[in-house]
Amino acid sequence: MQSIEPYTLYITTMGFLILFFSIVLLKRPVNFSRVLLSISLILASLFMILTALELYVQDFNAMVWLRNFQQIALFLCPVFLFGFARELADTNPQKNIRYMTYLSIPAIIGIVLIFTNSSHQWMRSEVSVQTIHGLTEIITTSTSMGMFFVSYIIFLTLLPVFTLLRNMHDLPTHLRLSHVLSSTAILLPLLSVLILPYMSFDIPGQVALSFSLMSFMLIFIFKRYDFNAIWPVSRSKILESLVEGILLFDTQFNLLEINKAGFEIIQKWIPTKDEHSLIGQKAENLFNTEKIKKSLYAKKTSSFEWKVKVGDSTCFLHVNIVPIGYYGQELMLIVFTDITEKKLIENRLYTLAHYDTLTDICNRHSFIEKFNRKINKDHFPISLLLLDIDHFKQFNDQYGHLIGDKVLKQFAKVLTEFFATKEYHVVVGRIGGEEFAVLLEMKADAATNLANQFQKKLSEYSINVNGYEYENITVSIGVATTYQQTSFETVYKEADDGLYQAKRAGRDRVEMINT
Ligand code: GH3
Ligand code: MG
Ligand code: MG
Repeated sequence: MQSIEPYTLYITTMGFLILFFSIVLLKRPVNFSRVLLSISLILASLFMILTALELYVQDFNAMVWLRNFQQIALFLCPVFLFGFARELADTNPQKNIRYMTYLSIPAIIGIVLIFTNSSHQWMRSEVSVQTIHGLTEIITTSTSMGMFFVSYIIFLTLLPVFTLLRNMHDLPTHLRLSHVLSSTAILLPLLSVLILPYMSFDIPGQVALSFSLMSFMLIFIFKRYDFNAIWPVSRSKILESLVEGILLFDTQFNLLEINKAGFEIIQKWIPTKDEHSLIGQKAENLFNTEKIKKSLYAKKTSSFEWKVKVGDSTCFLHVNIVPIGYYGQELMLIVFTDITEKKLIENRLYTLAHYDTLTDICNRHSFIEKFNRKINKDHFPISLLLLDIDHFKQFNDQYGHLIGDKVLKQFAKVLTEFFATKEYHVVVGRIGGEEFAVLLEMKADAATNLANQFQKKLSEYSINVNGYEYENITVSIGVATTYQQTSFETVYKEADDGLYQAKRAGRDRVEMINT
């Protein structure tokens, strides 16, 4: 035994610090990739502590055992790092555990052979002690088989590096740095082993030293790029399960990311079957509407509805554009929500609330609404025609209610067609059973005149009631006009008085009430 060297103390302290940080990494919310990173860092920290102990103890056998235990970390640390790297890109713990198990099998064989080396010497032909700067450590000479397992460790170390680098194409540009740094960190122990023998100086426990550097780098990167932890890991889970279409653009407005729902939406106007062919495309090639492009280029939050014509059909999208600030570099997120169904229901509800289901013209409620709108806008004079079909009860009695309905429909059609040709901001509505109304922005005389013309038109119109019989219907009309703000009830009452007079005077005529 010897007194503790500052250098041994340094490696021990690093080992415990990294052990501490590795455990801290496991704080909630725990995810599998983080667990794997944590395990690999715990293995690295154990490697450092064991190295420090090896430098500290003097007993040869104890030193050999400590060196053997270090091999466990040396073999298994890259296996867990590989699992971590894979899990970042493709969250699939079962599959990744399977890969890690396959990779561990040769590693475990190697470890067993090292531990039993004294009986067969297949791995190490010579084991001795060397002293560097007063510190003793084990030095081994590998056999061919030993060299094979060393190559296997190198292979295992390169695997997470390649995996991380391969993941990069799937990442937003600014996150790529984290993968490059992580790969560099993982390569450090390997580089130290490959390069230091060619240097003119020896460092005791050099692998432990490079392990401490690697571990600190990985911990730092993981903390610094925390987004990294949730981004690739949860990417597929979050994005693919969303019904909203998600599109992410980089600072140059190239498409970085698109989820399945987004692809389905884009497909409405870009006929492509290959999701990946869209990645990297400029926004201007993806949208043919100025509104989206303008909002995107403005790099401001905006939200609007967008009506897209797709062939013969129309679809409605709610578009949410959000800049995602990342250290001054704004990524642009577009969220599409397909609101076609909602819109259709809304339109249907609107139609049901505002239009008469039998005749498709304004119902009483929306007729009054439109009257009030005209009144509030001072669009005077406003004339109201109130039309009531004559002897309609008899008609119903003679032909039945269903034929009566047919007649009401045809009457509404004739009424609409007649007034639609007049340019007086006409509103036509059905405000009762067989009672219709027309709003005209004109004086009483002109309105009466038009009402008379309509009656004439109606008289020329025969209604086919049952295939072979034709009937003419007549209508009595009351007219009232207002030149100032008035309630609907007042004008209606006047027109109704006119209608009453018309009925009394023998029907099929127009009566105007002068106020
Ligand atoms: P007049 O107005 O000329 O005095 O005679 P009328 O027979 O039209 O009088 P009244 O207003 O009393 O009758 C209206 C009739 O309209 C009664 C009802 O059978 C019929 N009616 C009301 N709504 C509907 C409907 O939606 N469909 C059918 N087929 N008939 C309706
Ligand atoms: Mg009536
Ligand atoms: Mg009637």
